[in-house]
Amino acid sequence: MNALAAPSPRWPLRLARRAVSPALFDFWATRVNPLWTLEQPLARLVSRSAESRDAVTLVFRPNRHWAGLRAGQHVSLGVTIGGRRLVRSYSPTPLADGTLAITVKAITGGLVSTYLANEAAIGEVVSLDKAFGDMTVTSASENLLLLAAGSGITPMRALLRDLAERGMPVDVDLFYWARQQDELCFVDELKALAAAHPRLRVHFHLTREAAQPGVRVDAVSFDAVSALAERRVLACGPGGFVEAARVRLADTVARFDAEAFSLPAITGDDNAGEVEVHLARSGRTLTLPRSKSLLEGLEAQGVRPAHGCRMGICNSCACERQSGSTRHILTGDRSSEPSTQVRLCISAPRTDLILDL
Ligand SMILES: Cc1cc2nc3c(=O)[nH]c(=O)nc-3n(C[C@H](O)[C@H](O)[C@H](O)COP(=O)(O)OP(=O)(O)OC[C@H]3O[C@@H](n4cnc5c(N)ncnc54)[C@H](O)[C@@H]3O)c2cc1C
Repeated sequence: MNALAAPSPRWPLRLARRAVSPALFDFWATRVNPLWTLEQPLARLVSRSAESRDAVTLVFRPNRHWAGLRAGQHVSLGVTIGGRRLVRSYSPTPLADGTLAITVKAITGGLVSTYLANEAAIGEVVSLDKAFGDMTVTSASENLLLLAAGSGITPMRALLRDLAERGMPVDVDLFYWARQQDELCFVDELKALAAAHPRLRVHFHLTREAAQPGVRVDAVSFDAVSALAERRVLACGPGGFVEAARVRLADTVARFDAEAFSLPAITGDDNAGEVEVHLARSGRTLTLPRSKSLLEGLEAQGVRPAHGCRMGICNSCACERQSGSTRHILTGDRSSEPSTQVRLCISAPRTDLILDL
């Protein structure tokens, strides 16, 4: 059994489940041991080390409610900062001893990333939600082209370690972009993997290196990648990078999967001005900008809707739009159907709205 898990036998837990709510149980149990909960996966920070100029690797040991994850998946991690609980997605590398290595790049002005990178102390406990995501590799027959920019390297690193453990059964080319050399993560590890596995090739591209600025994904040459048309592409990074990769490759390769770590800017006619958003349950009416997601707009007004990935993947923020029109930030699609579920994190308001919140 995990040394940090609650040592109690099963029947008191069953009794506890019937007698009290998980929240009440957790409230009291975590006062005895910060990792004791009825159901909620929690993890304790056990080590931290610098990974690059602005990224830190944090190693967490989860409690016994953590169900594990497949390489390439991500998890919603919750921290409390200044009394406020904030949740963001991270792509851990599962380590052999059951811990999780999470590499966090500090984003200027970013609440959670700067806290984790600069302040989170050894012993601090964070919440984890169930892992999810389709950036996984189960087939041993699809040759891969991995594209990563910035912190988009994290799921790729997990995938490459997993593939290496399986003997690198497919051809893999990793293209990894950063602005400058000292922003690259895992350089020695990636080079060592490539040296040990001839089927893996790693290509670094530095876009702001004064001596020889690298070429971005929209113009880079893929001539070195054999049989490009038969490859499965996995792309990960900021929204603009993923979109450029999609435009460049989606129609020319066997399969294109991508995960954006940030939303693209909301552009076009729809983004100017403000609308009135009525929250049916609380009875509040707020004025929100059309240039932000509903989630960001509501948070800026002090409303804290449930949410997870903030990228339209996990559905935790889905809520009924009773009337009005919204725009899907990733696809640009407009939707006005009444009584429809919308994901607050990837929907921007177009007209006045009524939400079931
Ligand atoms: C599926 C998934 C997996 C992720 N895995 C990782 C990971 O392993 N490591 C990691 O460091 N990050 C990862 N992220 C990004 C992470 O969830 C946060 O978005 C990031 O840490 C910034 O959070 P914040 O609270 O500091 O910024 P916020 O306070 O939420 O935002 C501050 C500003 O930064 C912008 N921003 C947010 N994220 C990024 C970004 N990645 N690049 C550029 N600008 C950004 C926002 O648009 C906003 O303007 C992942 C995101 C997703 C959706």
